[in-house]
Amino acid sequence: MKVDLHLHSRYSDGTSTPAEVARRVKVCGVTLAFLTDHDSVTGFPEAAAAAREHQVDLRCGIEINSAAGNIHILGYGIRWQDPAFLARIDEFRGRRTERIRRIVEKLRGIGIDVAFEDVRATAHETLGRPHVADALLRKGLVKSRKEAFDRFLAAGKPGFVESMGPTPEEAIEVIRAAGGFASLAHPETLPDKESVGAWKAVGLEGLEVYYGSHRPAEINRYKELADRHGLLATGGSDFHGPGTGRDNPLGVDLPPADYDRFMERLARC
Ligand code: AMP
Ligand code: ZN
Ligand code: FE
Ligand code: FE
Repeated sequence: MKVDLHLHSRYSDGTSTPAEVARRVKVCGVTLAFLTDHDSVTGFPEAAAAAREHQVDLRCGIEINSAAGNIHILGYGIRWQDPAFLARIDEFRGRRTERIRRIVEKLRGIGIDVAFEDVRATAHETLGRPHVADALLRKGLVKSRKEAFDRFLAAGKPGFVESMGPTPEEAIEVIRAAGGFASLAHPETLPDKESVGAWKAVGLEGLEVYYGSHRPAEINRYKELADRHGLLATGGSDFHGPGTGRDNPLGVDLPPADYDRFMERLARC
């Protein structure tokens, strides 16, 4: 089954409108898709309206970036209008804004002429380091988001400030409290792969085995890890849109057995 359970719009650090994401779901022949903006569901009504127009199945998910380096938790089957859930992700966005202010201060401290308002200029809701990268790009200081991360924004670089996001356990809990289930995104960023066992114990239910950039050897390795820990195998492209370096065609192949297990779990939400 061609699915895409990991997509971003400009309501976080993507550059496409939610309607454009829905259009690409159609064009790419994806049969089941989830919009998973970072700490935001605000783009979903627009995406849903466009999905109805294109007659595609596009649902609301989320990606919560934890404070543990590059450990991101995807959520599916959430009651996305739940007031308590919306309050939690609003709080997470507030912490992101504070982090971005600190990053801007650090960059100014090393003589880079960038202001918080430059960074916020293109953001529709959730702020992230990619918006800092885009501000540096517009000033001609870097040529790509990747260069901005490599030179300034990644851990250990002069503009780096630790994430102020929740712990992975809290991120899982926020998703579960909204009636959904959690899957660990892009497991290649995990320093210790076996740590999924500890998160399974606190409610993690899936692993993003079929990640867009995974090669067959990685898929086999993560599928084995998911099976051994009793986790669902999920998949997605992590599309971010034009100009981000991640403007890939949508869709990954999810084997029928994994698709059925995912749909069965979704039906229980
Ligand atoms: P933040 O949420 O502010 O910590 O920023 C992390 C986000 O930046 C990730 O979710 C990715 O979307 C993006 N990102 C991380 N590394 C890179 C990179 N090397 N090039 C482009 N985007 C990146
Ligand atoms: Zn992102
Ligand atoms: Fe991510
Ligand atoms: Fe993502």
